[in-house]
Amino acid sequence: MVSTRLGQNGACVQIPAMFLVAIALGSTGCGADDGPAAGSGSESGSSKLEVGTTVAPITSIAANIGGDRVRITGIVPEGTNSHTFEPKPSVAELLSTVDALYVNGLQLEEPTKALAEENLKEGSEIVELGTQSIPESEYAYDFSFPKEDGKPNPHLWTDPRYAREYAEVIRDDLSELDPDNAGYYAGNFDKFSALIDEFDEAMRASFDTIPREKRKLLTYHDAYAYFARDYGWDVVGAIQVSDFEDPTPKEVAGLIDQIKAEQVPAVFGSEVFPSPVLEQIGKEAGVRYVDVLRDDDLPEEPGDPQHSWVGLMHFDFVTMTEAMGGDASALKAFEPRDVAPDQAEYPR
Ligand SMILES: [Zn+2]
Repeated sequence: MVSTRLGQNGACVQIPAMFLVAIALGSTGCGADDGPAAGSGSESGSSKLEVGTTVAPITSIAANIGGDRVRITGIVPEGTNSHTFEPKPSVAELLSTVDALYVNGLQLEEPTKALAEENLKEGSEIVELGTQSIPESEYAYDFSFPKEDGKPNPHLWTDPRYAREYAEVIRDDLSELDPDNAGYYAGNFDKFSALIDEFDEAMRASFDTIPREKRKLLTYHDAYAYFARDYGWDVVGAIQVSDFEDPTPKEVAGLIDQIKAEQVPAVFGSEVFPSPVLEQIGKEAGVRYVDVLRDDDLPEEPGDPQHSWVGLMHFDFVTMTEAMGGDASALKAFEPRDVAPDQAEYPR
């Protein structure tokens, strides 16, 4: 089950955090701001295909397929709340030059899509990688993404299966736009796919060291719903806000009781969303609070092999395995790396 509710009588526990105030006020939020200045850092006069991407994991996957034959520019700065990100008007300039814009879809990037629709040049299109990778009937709705709000959980990329699908969509799109390099894109896809197989094997070996009934995720940011389905974990709850009501002490108490009953050894916060409430709940329930998970902020800096989609997921899965008392040595023996040169521009 993906979305077992925490709280009494199965009711959702919705715990507001300060950052949501920014959304309520219609602000761009979280210090999240500008994407790259259009054209910054790009060499002029190149006939290379130009592609825009939104969040960093998508930028990295695109770079693994496009390598040095495509100029890739990310839009959402790492460490930003991608769910509330609104591009500055200056991003319009970048959007007016790209041959395609790769977004996640599943309604993650509506403001960026809207800006793109107004500014993309003739013949250029928005490619929704996630939307093309999963049928609607398999969308996850849960705690942070309740069905009645109409937005599915968009985090397909934290599940390697869908990262491979994204790469396949990118391979096909680049090949259509740039048939001369289709063989290069196909070769990179094959290498990326083999990397995912190797990673998947290391993941399964490490997760197997945790008894199935102990693979329980209680997170602040609900980014692992699809991953959990495929790798035998249970998301026992996520504490992301979907409204602005204050949690009642009774709800918090119910959550603490449930953590104790589930006997999870750790609860996970997110590096992008510091959560004093989760920290407090962890303390009161007597479990470790691990606050470093990340779902779209790549580790290290551009140019480092860890600064990649696979580096991001590797970091999370090692963290989860160890926090659950498992043995992550199979995962640690796996070396995160790109299969093609990553020359993409990651806005800071
Ligand atoms: Zn997220």
